[in-house]
Amino acid sequence: MNIAIINTRILSFRGNNLGIIDNGAIGITDNHISFVGTMEKFNKQDADIVINGDNHVTMPGLVNAHIHTGSTLLRGGAQDLPEIEWMNKGIGPIGRHMKPEDAIVGSKLGVLEGLKSGTTTFAEYTSNVSNLVNHVYLPFGARVVATETINEVSPKRDHLKPTDLYEFDRQKGETAFKRASELFKKYQDEELVSCMYGPQALDMISIELLKSIQEEAKSRESGIHIHVAQGQRERLQIIERFGKDASTVKILEKNELLDENLLGAHCHDTSEAERALMVKRGVKMVGCPSSISMIDGIVPPIGHFVALGGKVGIGSDQAPGPGLHNMFCEMRTISNLTKVIMKDPTVLPAWEVLQIATVGGAQILGLDKKIGTLEVGKQADIIMVNLNSLNLAPAVSKPFRNYIPNLVYSSTGYEVENVIINGKMIIENNEFVSINTDEILKEANKRAERIFSDATDDWIKAGSKLVKDVEDGFL
Ligand SMILES: [Zn+2]
Repeated sequence: MNIAIINTRILSFRGNNLGIIDNGAIGITDNHISFVGTMEKFNKQDADIVINGDNHVTMPGLVNAHIHTGSTLLRGGAQDLPEIEWMNKGIGPIGRHMKPEDAIVGSKLGVLEGLKSGTTTFAEYTSNVSNLVNHVYLPFGARVVATETINEVSPKRDHLKPTDLYEFDRQKGETAFKRASELFKKYQDEELVSCMYGPQALDMISIELLKSIQEEAKSRESGIHIHVAQGQRERLQIIERFGKDASTVKILEKNELLDENLLGAHCHDTSEAERALMVKRGVKMVGCPSSISMIDGIVPPIGHFVALGGKVGIGSDQAPGPGLHNMFCEMRTISNLTKVIMKDPTVLPAWEVLQIATVGGAQILGLDKKIGTLEVGKQADIIMVNLNSLNLAPAVSKPFRNYIPNLVYSSTGYEVENVIINGKMIIENNEFVSINTDEILKEANKRAERIFSDATDDWIKAGSKLVKDVEDGFL
């Protein structure tokens, strides 16, 4: 045995509940879990490293099921804007001044932030995703679901009115599709990497290409991760293209694209009947609470999908807008927002949000055989949260475990003290074991300063509401 964690409060998520063990132990051998149980049954004799988990919660690493880390250098670059302006007038004019290396440094910042706050799996969604896999995820030892963005539209869209139909470039889509397919072979021997197809959204891709992707994904037993019904911008395009009664879900259904292989991100511009249909077809859903509330002024319908019996996960989306890549903040935000929108404080209780952020995320990404719970044989993605923190104390276990709600409602994420991924210590006693964060921070600041400065004229010309905020001395 390489690592033994002893005297700890375990949330294993085994079975239908949280799989709680009050005074437990975990053994890790190579990359997998070799023991989970009570202290009485545990023999730590042959362990190389013994970690005392007294006053800690030991649980599966969190799964961020929808994230674009590359734009983390643009954090704070577009928020408090009308949804229709966010992309074309807000973040677009700045993002176009990023170079491929900038996305790598931004991604490093985003992934480090995620790791520090207990995320061990990242469903990374971007163009040329292998750049981030090779330069960020593999060197950092983080688990990634590499999802290649596939779309057929030109990135230069800010001259278009919302009702002007995007022009499609089939070749562009086919090239990205090929890149996506190549990932499977490229990373077949990497334990930390799995792959999904990422057709960006129905307004950005032709039905023909989407059908080809569906066929290929099935043959590889892989999933498709697509942004679904993401609001006004998408709705206007779909109506313009398919007619006034059309909606994203209706068109997907008509083309037999709603199935258990599909993971729909966001899904907030959907009716109750459409959501019920998606659940019936086995479509999974991922919501991004901070991002969608900040960019769209909307609560992601995670609670609605849960009420329908759907499988859901949580993601942090991108930093510009919501700000963070911190799953503890996302858990708290979705629980708060859902209670408000459903006018019911009993919905999305803490235990359910914890399930969604761990085993739920693993299920919707097709990784639940490998990770998501603490069980013998599973790969060891484990976090330990220090309950002896000003905002998490006191911790009691009788007559109930108050630390379970406290994890969701009181934690900042930085109480995560140890992070283990695939059996390897990534963070030990709050410090990264082999990553120099100071250098990365310095590099990120330097690059962001250049990007924002270079984008000044374009950003002013685009004329978002934020330009006036600057003139008026508010930004
Ligand atoms: Zn997204």
